[in-house]
Amino acid sequence: MAESSLYGRRKYWAKRFVPAPVLPMSRKEMDDLDWDSCDIILVGGDAYVDHPSFGAALIGRVLEARGFRVGIIAQPDWKGPADFSALGRPNLMFGVTSGNVDSMVSRYTADGRRRSDDAYSPDQQPDLRPDRALIAYCNRCRQAFEGVPIVIGGIEASLRRVAHYDYWSDKVRRSILLDSKADLLIYGNAERAVVEVAWRLSSGEEIANIKNVRGTAFARPTAETGGDVVRLPAYETVSRDPVEFARATRMVLEEAHPVHGRALVQKHEGRDVFVLPPATPLSTKELDQTYELPFSRRPHPAYKDARIKAWEMIRHSVTIMRGCFGGCSFCALACHAGPIIQSRSAESILREIEQIRDHLPGFTGIISDLGGPTANMYRQGCKRDQQKKKCRRLSCLYPSVCRELETSHSPLIKLYRRARKLPGIKKILIGSGVRHDLALRSSDYVKELVTHHVGGHLKVAPEHVCKDPLTHMQKPDIELFERFRELFEKYSAEASKEQYLLPYFIAAHPGTTDQDMLELALWLKNHDIRIDQVQTFLPTPMTLATAMYHSGIDPTKPFKDGGVEVTVPRGLKARRLHKAFLRYHDPVNWPLLRKALKRMGREDLIGNGKRQLVPARQAGRRKRPA
Ligand code: SF4
Ligand code: SF4
Repeated sequence: MAESSLYGRRKYWAKRFVPAPVLPMSRKEMDDLDWDSCDIILVGGDAYVDHPSFGAALIGRVLEARGFRVGIIAQPDWKGPADFSALGRPNLMFGVTSGNVDSMVSRYTADGRRRSDDAYSPDQQPDLRPDRALIAYCNRCRQAFEGVPIVIGGIEASLRRVAHYDYWSDKVRRSILLDSKADLLIYGNAERAVVEVAWRLSSGEEIANIKNVRGTAFARPTAETGGDVVRLPAYETVSRDPVEFARATRMVLEEAHPVHGRALVQKHEGRDVFVLPPATPLSTKELDQTYELPFSRRPHPAYKDARIKAWEMIRHSVTIMRGCFGGCSFCALACHAGPIIQSRSAESILREIEQIRDHLPGFTGIISDLGGPTANMYRQGCKRDQQKKKCRRLSCLYPSVCRELETSHSPLIKLYRRARKLPGIKKILIGSGVRHDLALRSSDYVKELVTHHVGGHLKVAPEHVCKDPLTHMQKPDIELFERFRELFEKYSAEASKEQYLLPYFIAAHPGTTDQDMLELALWLKNHDIRIDQVQTFLPTPMTLATAMYHSGIDPTKPFKDGGVEVTVPRGLKARRLHKAFLRYHDPVNWPLLRKALKRMGREDLIGNGKRQLVPARQAGRRKRPA
C-alpha cells in the first residue's frame, strides 16, 4: 500500500518555494503571485480562514509546502458553474470538501429546523453553502472543467464513505462516492493521502489507476476480491435490513484502526466501493511541521471586517493533539480522526503560543485552550504492540480504563507549567472537554488544572446519570463524575477560587427512556444544576449511536439471536420531552413536563415544594398562546 512521507527529505518550501501570504482566491491574487494557473483548486463550504483548524487551509498549506500551487474557492455560488471557473482550469485536480462540518449538520438543527446562522460564514450568514454540499460542488466542478479529476475529503466525505444512515431523508444512502461521482475519496486525516495523490497526478498517472493509497476510497465495477479484504453487507442489504446495517457499522469501526485495520469493500448495484485501510498517523515531527506551516492565522483579507465566529472562538487556542480513544457511541471521531493519539512536541506548541502572542492583533495574554478532541489525552496511548496483538475493543476507556493504556498525565502537566512561564502570557485556559474518568488517574493533573487553568467553568461530559443510557453511550458510571467533582471542589477551595463544573448531558440518546430522563432531571435539581444549552442527540452518519437509532439494535453488543434491542426516543414529541427534562427549570417546559409526569404516574413531582420538579399550574391562569 502506497503512502507519502509527509514532508519528504526536507521542508520543500523552506528551500525553494516562497509561501503565498494567503492562498489565492481570485485571478488578481494569482497574477500578484505570478501564477498562470493553479495545480490544485480546493473548493469548500467554509469561509477561507488561513488557520490550521480549518480543513481547506490546512490541506492547502501542506500541498503548498510540497511545491504545489493551490487556489481556494470558498463558499461558491452552487447554482451555476461561474464561481467554479474563477481561478481557471486546475492542472492536476479539484479537492472538494463541504467544510469543517457535514453540510446537513451545518444547515439543520437536531429537530430538523433550518439554522438561522453559520459559524463558518462571514457574519454568520446562513445560506452560503447548499444541502449535501459535496454533491452540489462536484457537479459544478465537472460542469466548469470537464475531465479534471475530482477528489473529495473532509468530514462529510469521511462519514459517508460507505452506505450510511441519513437522518434528514430517513433512509440509508449510498456511498457519497457514487452520488457525487468523484474520482477518489480521502477520509480521516488527509495530509498523507492528498500529497501522495497530488504527486502521482503530477507525474502523469491517471486518477483511475490510483488504487493503493491508504486513507482513500474509490468505486469500480463489481468483481471478485482477494487478499485481506473484508466484504461488508451490500448496500441493497443494509438499506432494507436495519440489523445488517448495524452489523456493517460495527465492521467499519473495527477496521478503522490505522495499525491493524483491513481494506473494506461494499457492493452497490453493480459497483464495488473499496475503502483502503486508514492512513498512518502523523509522527510528532510531521505534526509539528504541519502546524508550523506559514499560516497567516486569520481570515482571508477579502472578508474585510466581517466576523467569522468559528475563527473568533479558536484564534487564541492551540491544538496540541489529534485523535481520541474514548469511543463514545455518539461521536464520529473514531471513524474520522481515529483512536490513535498524535501529539505535538512541547517546543512546537510553545512556539505557536509565542507566535499568537507576538503577531495576532487583539491578543490580551490569555490562551483560550491547549487541547484537541479532549483536553487530557496528550501523549497517551496503547502500550501493547498492536502489530502482534490485534485489539477489537471500540473504546480504551469503556467499560473501564484498559490496563494496557498509558494514562500518565505528566507530559501534560509539564507542558502546562512551561506554557504558563512564557513571558507575556497571563493565563492558559483549558477549553476542551476533560475526560474525567481518565483525569481521575492523576490527582496531580486535576490539581494543576483546577489551580491554574479554569476560567470560571470547566467542561466535562458525564452525558447521563442512569446506567442504561450510559452503557449504550459507552460512557463511564456517574459515580466517577461525582469523584471528579469532589476533587474539583477540594482543589478549588484550596486555591481559594470560585469556579464551577459545566457538565454536558445528551437528551434523546438511543437507550434512554422517559424514566431515565426524569431521573436525570431529579439529579440535576438535587445538585442545583441548571443547564442553559441542551444537546439533543443528532444521528450523524456512521456513528454507533446512529446505527442504534436506525436499527433499534446496539451494535456494541454481540449480534447473537438478532442482537440487543434498544429503546429509541423517536419523533419530535419524544425528543422535545427529553430536552424539556434537561431544562426542567424553564417555565416554557412546565406544561409539557406536567403532562408527562401525570402520564408516568408521578403527580407527586408536581407542586410548589422543594422536592417537586415543576410547580403546579396556578388556578385561573390562562393557557399560553401557541
Ligand atoms: S471523549 Fe469526546 S472526542 Fe472522544 S469519543 Fe468521546 S465525545 Fe468523542
Ligand atoms: S489493548 Fe487496551 S489500550 Fe490497547 S487498543 Fe486495546 S483497549 Fe486500547
